[in-house]
Amino acid sequence: MSLSLIVGPPNSGRAGEVRRRLEASLDRDPVLVVPTADDAARFEADLCRAAGSGAILGASTLTFRRLFEELAAGAGLDASLTLSAPQRLALVRAAASATPLRILARSSRRAGFGAALDALIGELQAALVEPDELESASSNLEDPALELELAAIYRTYLDLRARTSRHDAGSIAREVLRHTADGLPDGWEGRPVLLYGFDDLTRAQLELVARLAATSDVAIAVNYEDRRALDARAGLLADLVEELGATREPDLPHDTSYTRSAVLRHLDRHLFEPRAPLIDSDDGLVLMECAGELGEAEAIGGEIARLLAAGTNPGDIAVVLRHPASHGPLLGRVLERLGIPVAVEADVPLARTAVGRALVALCHAAAPEGTAEEMLAYLRSDPSMHPSSADWLERRIRRGLVHTAAEAIESWSSPPLHWARLREATSPGERLAVLRRAAIELAERPHTERAPVVNGARAHFGEVPFDPVELRAGRTAAELLGEVAEVGTLPGCEQPDLAEAAEAIEAASVPLWRGTTERRVRVLSPYRIRAGRARYLFCASLQESEFPGPTAASPLLGEERRRGLGIKALRREDQADEERYLFHACVSRPTERLYLSWRSSGEDGSPLARSPFIDEVLDLLAPDPEAAEEELKRVRGLDRTTFEPAEAPTARELARSLAARSEDAETTLAALAGPAREEVLRALAAVPAANERPGPLRSPEALEEIAARPHLSANSLEGWIECSYRWFVDHELQPERLEPRADPLWLGGVVHAALERLYRDPPGGEAIPRPADLPRWRERLGDLLAEEAAEKGAPPTGERALALARARVQAERFLEDEAASETTLRPRPELLELAFGFEGEGDPGPLELGPTSLRGIVDRIDLAPDGQGAVIRDYKTSREVPGAAAFEGKGKLQLQLYMRLVRDRLGLDVIGGLFQPLGARKPRDRRPRGMVRKDDPRAEGLDLVATDLLDPDEFEAELDRAVAAAIDRAAAMRAGEIDRDPIGGTCPKYCTYQAICRLERSLGPAGEDGNGDE
Ligand code: SF4
Repeated sequence: MSLSLIVGPPNSGRAGEVRRRLEASLDRDPVLVVPTADDAARFEADLCRAAGSGAILGASTLTFRRLFEELAAGAGLDASLTLSAPQRLALVRAAASATPLRILARSSRRAGFGAALDALIGELQAALVEPDELESASSNLEDPALELELAAIYRTYLDLRARTSRHDAGSIAREVLRHTADGLPDGWEGRPVLLYGFDDLTRAQLELVARLAATSDVAIAVNYEDRRALDARAGLLADLVEELGATREPDLPHDTSYTRSAVLRHLDRHLFEPRAPLIDSDDGLVLMECAGELGEAEAIGGEIARLLAAGTNPGDIAVVLRHPASHGPLLGRVLERLGIPVAVEADVPLARTAVGRALVALCHAAAPEGTAEEMLAYLRSDPSMHPSSADWLERRIRRGLVHTAAEAIESWSSPPLHWARLREATSPGERLAVLRRAAIELAERPHTERAPVVNGARAHFGEVPFDPVELRAGRTAAELLGEVAEVGTLPGCEQPDLAEAAEAIEAASVPLWRGTTERRVRVLSPYRIRAGRARYLFCASLQESEFPGPTAASPLLGEERRRGLGIKALRREDQADEERYLFHACVSRPTERLYLSWRSSGEDGSPLARSPFIDEVLDLLAPDPEAAEEELKRVRGLDRTTFEPAEAPTARELARSLAARSEDAETTLAALAGPAREEVLRALAAVPAANERPGPLRSPEALEEIAARPHLSANSLEGWIECSYRWFVDHELQPERLEPRADPLWLGGVVHAALERLYRDPPGGEAIPRPADLPRWRERLGDLLAEEAAEKGAPPTGERALALARARVQAERFLEDEAASETTLRPRPELLELAFGFEGEGDPGPLELGPTSLRGIVDRIDLAPDGQGAVIRDYKTSREVPGAAAFEGKGKLQLQLYMRLVRDRLGLDVIGGLFQPLGARKPRDRRPRGMVRKDDPRAEGLDLVATDLLDPDEFEAELDRAVAAAIDRAAAMRAGEIDRDPIGGTCPKYCTYQAICRLERSLGPAGEDGNGDE
């Protein structure tokens, strides 16, 4: 019979030709072979549509796997007894354990080794390479030890599999080829066979094609033309012609009528061709540059919504992603939020679903050595657990109070159900059975009593986050665990337990979409789109290193060693050719418009590079790439948190948009009428709840409580000035911290207390260290730091011990600087840590500033020999402290207010106020900073920064400014005027309250420029 090739480039009608031949041979029971089960379903649907009558009888559409199985059945083999994926993996592992390893010994202990080995053995089987052949080919290598070990494991695996009396795909292929060497099974001879959509064929598939062609007419469609974009398929063509003797029929010509867009036709024909002519752009091509993944998804969603509003069938739109499993889930969620029917055709790791995550965490937590962290991971992922249980556990873990899974829940009245059942189970088999039950319950429990019920009055869609993927994940996991449970019966395999179950779940995947994609926007990979069509095609996430992507390295057998072996079937195609081929597939599929989309930055604004393929496209456009880009590109930056009102795809999006642009709201609403207006008004009413700007305080009780406070503190006022909302969270909400008191705060308390005690009872002859007694000061400081550290918590270990040692070095440096200083100022014991406004003994009373009354604690007051001149000292453990010039900009009031207190309440003559940066390293940076009267000789010897010396007028003006600011801010505080107003317009990096003040990238109120919203 015959083996012929239907060769042609994209848009040459290969699919139509295959369909025509299939229909023409219906009386001979033809077989169509396609790459995947999805392709089979799609091609059958196309056939039925083309036939117009609804169904075509007499043709079989199969994958190669099904074809091998049917031929095996025809030859009398029982192919139904095949190993499941976990069973095969277990045998591979058992084979590796039973083989003495040297080169692979260390790798074999790593996670993922079994899976890599399984994949390699599968590849060797598909290439019809037996262990003996691998061994003899390895003699071509200088050091064949690795390949010899691999061959030995492979041989052991084949032996173990043979002992199971079960098949795998490799053994079925071998057996079929053996049985068909002298002829096909009954009923197969003479059946026409057509192959469509293959990019490559394995050695086993090629051999089978040769067998089929010996007795039947076989035709293979190959997507090829002698062009750079299609180079990747040259290897397949050569194999078919040179090795199988296939006849290449006259190539099918390119059909230009598939699109009216000259640009699309031009890209299809000239992409990647050197010296290609230029063409003027038309509306067949749009470029989209977006900021952030969410921004890109929303931009695509908005564009699709416009197409749908114009009457486009969703099934005519496709979004192609090089890795739909990575970016597809977010895109799918965004499209669903915009009311767009979508099908994300990708398999995601089972462990990334809530059910899979919970099961893996449960396996770890229920193991005898289960840790508290693993219990926390389980509680966080089990949807039936209340989040607060996990929060409290996390707090205890971070404080070092619990370590094991059992300790984590010892105070609970009853332990988590699935965990308790697993702990009670007495054998591995029982544990796997419990886990199977848990898989189903974890998936279904959130829907119990709440799931959508047809015609049910009690429940309907929308009441519960109905997620079919989770239900599918539950079923998939249960089936998988059933297969894992059977592994113990296989030769050489131990009875699997929870660790093996977790590993199997981590290696499995689950489809995001099942069912027909009719009337849905498809999100799919380039491999899936290449055999399809779309009127509008978005090729998204076109980023450098993503599309084109790098060569996927084989972890066990690298490219160089494959070349060294000289086994042709083990060589890999050039990845660069493959990526060009796939991108060309995207470019050649749309009939109306192609959208090329990329991200210029991440969500945080960090720049991202776009794919070089964009430039390949621009290089084909007139008058030049820059001008074409300018004309075609639509930009959506991080500032776009909502749609423009005219572009909003749903009532909810319009409401969000209007809420962000109050100036447009009235005009837009006026233009709406009837139910549409009502719907938007309803949505608008719901928006402020989610996006309303926090503050000011309105609760009369809260305002009354704040107003009734007798004194405020200078420290608190500074906090208010830094950001009033941050102050509100810190001082009023006082969120319960998960971690223990932060180390810097703990350390600050220790250092302050130690220095106070040191100066209160100086170890030398004077109130400050002098060069001669410096060692005694140092020694005493060390003792005091240790005592205070022990007093303020358990004796420090680890990080804290290090921090304390560092603090000691810093404080010693301060003592050295002070010892070298020639100042005549001296601290007074009664003026150390002076508390005012607390009504204690010796308390000078609060600082009264008109309607405001302040209290606080002054670290240290140094007096001049005259007993009147005073300098306020404030220790800071930081490296940097502000000087006088920065006080206003940084909202600093404390020193100035303390100076007023010293003057007003103690009747002293204020010379200045200084911060002491204990954390600074260089001598220059260790100088005290603040404000000191320039004209006062009593400040001599203080080693001051020139800009901190103020004229008397400037000095007084700064004190007055600080007082006025304190009075003004105190009034605002009492009025509850909290707002998101970080000083300088930028939130400090250390503020982690965005989740509370809602300054995330959601809708930001107008007028918050530079506040992190941008
Ligand atoms: S994130 Fe910014 S606005 Fe929010 S509390 Fe912190 S500093 Fe204030």
